[in-house]
Amino acid sequence: MIRKTRLFTPGPTPLLPAAQFAMAAADMHHRTPEFRALFQKVLAQLKVFVGTQNDVLLLSSSGTGAMEASVSNLTSPGDRVLVLTAGKFGERWIDLAKAFGCDVDVVKVPYGQTFDLAQVKKALKPEHRAVYLQATETSTAVRHDVEAIAKLLKENAPEALLVVDGITGLGTTHFDVDGWGIDILIGGSQKAVMIPPGLAYLSVSEKAWAAMEKSKNPRYYFDLRKERKNAVKGESAYTPAVALIAGLGAALDYIAGQAGGDLEKGRIALVDNAQVNAAATRAGLVALGFTLFAPTAPAAAATAVAVPEGMNSGDVVKALKTRFALVTANGQGEMQGKIFRVAHLGFFDYLDTVAFLGAMEHIAKDTLGLPVKYGEAVAAAQEVFAKEVKA
Ligand SMILES: *Cc1c(COP(=O)(O)O)cnc(C)c1O
Repeated sequence: MIRKTRLFTPGPTPLLPAAQFAMAAADMHHRTPEFRALFQKVLAQLKVFVGTQNDVLLLSSSGTGAMEASVSNLTSPGDRVLVLTAGKFGERWIDLAKAFGCDVDVVKVPYGQTFDLAQVKKALKPEHRAVYLQATETSTAVRHDVEAIAKLLKENAPEALLVVDGITGLGTTHFDVDGWGIDILIGGSQKAVMIPPGLAYLSVSEKAWAAMEKSKNPRYYFDLRKERKNAVKGESAYTPAVALIAGLGAALDYIAGQAGGDLEKGRIALVDNAQVNAAATRAGLVALGFTLFAPTAPAAAATAVAVPEGMNSGDVVKALKTRFALVTANGQGEMQGKIFRVAHLGFFDYLDTVAFLGAMEHIAKDTLGLPVKYGEAVAAAQEVFAKEVKA
């Protein structure tokens, strides 16, 4: 049988063909009017995609580069910060803040859960310089209530900067960046914007710009002030990832094209698309007898599924790959072998979801030996689709 390779991983995600063509054609020097026009167009599109009046910057790095910049540019050694962590990416904030000498307070909840707001409120101190969290914790497929946490900050630590890793949250969650007061919101290219890894983007508030002037950390490549100055001229401080930027422009055009050319509406449609696919996937997997790893606050970016006691999630990941060339992600760290993750962010449609669930029916039966009636996972997904999407 022919098996088409299908990426269902929460980064990298499947590539948009129009973006691939744009990348292949991006034979351009970066100190030219052609590139400046492209760069300015993409930065303007990103502001709409992020949904903010704040500056948006592009960095040639993976998402973690923007996370690091959000620590190195905003803090000084000895500053007290609060990290809210519920998984591997939350733990990355702890490591980063410690690497730059911050005095790190932590609110930690077990894998698969989101924060208890009373606990966050109790941990917040007026002297916190910044609060770091994820919008969606990709390692557990949990969505956090960024709006509620932003409100807690306004009431209890109004000086603190709110820094949100939205690397899988953007394009899968509705944000009101300026209304809620998110000082930095970070995205990554290999997630919902349908292009390869290598770019990070971030919105930066005036409050964050002011804080940068006070930071005593040394900065060079990730000096956001330098990037801001250059962006005004349509340039970046160093050689940018030109081809990726061309691909990003094409992807944002495509997202706008989903709503008649209106990028804001296209972004909303992209989020809704992820939410419906996630809900359909959850329904299908539950119908097959699987347990959701994050039932109370599931992300639309990805779904994390626990395999029955005594079974290994790695066997599911491996069987999906060898039988169907379908690539999912095992659990990270302590979750390896216990859960696997399937993505919905970016260039996935409803029929991708149906294909995944059809494959899962075979895997549940043959690899895990579960009692499966063919069609039951697909039927559950179809019920969700019929209810959520107008004919
Ligand atoms: C993918 C991802 C990252 C970024 O990782 P990079 O490998 O540096 O791009 C950070 N946070 C979350 C929540 C992610 O999903």
